[in-house]
Amino acid sequence: MEIIRTVSWMKQAARQARAENHIIGLVPTMGALHEGHISLLRRAKSECSEVFASIFVNPTQFGPNEDLSKYPRTFEADAEKLETAGVGVLFAPEAKEMYPSGFSTGVTVEGLSDCLEGQSRPGHFRGVATVVLKLFEIAQPHFAFFGRKDAQQVRILQKMTADLNLNLEVVVCPIVRETDGLALSSRNSYLNPEERRAATVLYRSLAALRDAISSGTRDSLTLQNVARGVLAEEKLARVDYAEIVSTDSFEPIARVGGVPAYVLLAVFIGTTRLIDNLLIEPASDCEQLRCTL
Ligand code: AMP
Repeated sequence: MEIIRTVSWMKQAARQARAENHIIGLVPTMGALHEGHISLLRRAKSECSEVFASIFVNPTQFGPNEDLSKYPRTFEADAEKLETAGVGVLFAPEAKEMYPSGFSTGVTVEGLSDCLEGQSRPGHFRGVATVVLKLFEIAQPHFAFFGRKDAQQVRILQKMTADLNLNLEVVVCPIVRETDGLALSSRNSYLNPEERRAATVLYRSLAALRDAISSGTRDSLTLQNVARGVLAEEKLARVDYAEIVSTDSFEPIARVGGVPAYVLLAVFIGTTRLIDNLLIEPASDCEQLRCTL
């Protein structure tokens, strides 16, 4: 695996792969790699002839009171995992390589970026969209792979890709979970043992909501109260938001069943902020709904 630190060298590698008629898959990450990231790499490997990964802890997507400086950095172990996963090129630039002095451009996907994560983390999605557009331009992928764990992020990136007529497809991959249901996240490493046990409450509340749907509940407020009830029982949990929204617009919906929907959670466990979601889709029999955790 080649490790590339500069934009110009990465562009050259992308040009060469394109000249060799490779189908390029890109998996952007912030490192501290876990099985969730590996699942994206596997998917990329299965659909593309050349897989590029990036590790870049993007400063512009962190708010002033967020965890940029303490974000876990495990570069050596990450590089080994990427090599094992069959990645051809790892792009791992320094911040000043991506944002040289005088950098002043930003990409804002209006509307979708304003609610939920965008409201709790002002400027976050502008940082994400800007760096991902740069990564797309630098690595020239045919396909880029993202996790449904960050559902609003991937929707925004799909919208950016469509609005700006980018020549690639954004692929959404399933959420990988621990055996007790906790969605894998680099931020799980912040949890102490007691918080780690408490953190399963996100999964448990989504599972309770799913069960309520199976029993026929369709009203969003009633469903939200099911999830909030489970969350309220966990003393270490503080809910930031628990909303049911259309997967397309991310606007709240009054009833589930009509259009594909997400139940989106952001919950503080101690000082660590975790997100998770449940996907609700109409099934072929219109009375039934398919729920995916
Ligand atoms: P990050 O390194 O946190 O920026 O994540 C890089 C990519 O991995 C993003 O597309 C995430 O959505 C995805 N990802 C993170 N956690 C998971 C998970 N548990 N399952 C699937 N994908 C994930």
